[in-house]
Amino acid sequence: MHASRDGAGVGNKDMDKQTIKQALLLKANELASQTVSKDEIAIEPEAEMLDGLQRTTDRVIALDILSRNWRTMLLVKEALQRSDTGTLGSCESCDRPISERRLQAIPWAKYCIDCQEAADNMRSADSQLDVAA
Ligand SMILES: [Zn+2]
Repeated sequence: MHASRDGAGVGNKDMDKQTIKQALLLKANELASQTVSKDEIAIEPEAEMLDGLQRTTDRVIALDILSRNWRTMLLVKEALQRSDTGTLGSCESCDRPISERRLQAIPWAKYCIDCQEAADNMRSADSQLDVAA
């Protein structure tokens, strides 16, 4: 089981990188096709008050989807760049390899599970402070 991975494993590893890159390209296409049309977020200065309220809600939802897609798109693009430079699958923070399972679930993952959890814990510690205060 723990025999040298260097010999036999190399081919497989390249295959996995290709699979991840394919997944990234698919996701990039999917996000690009989901782009909200400009009409939905256009601001109409002379809209009636009530109509305006409804439109504001629609606009907020549309912008929310748009910005979430945008953030994911940025991460996907960054990951594609990393796949070109050969650093895809390494944690940006500690440089250790990101687990295959994590990359299969989130091909654009930037951090290993440990660093991601540390970041999440820091954020929830902040919100716990708010609750205690
Ligand atoms: Zn890490």
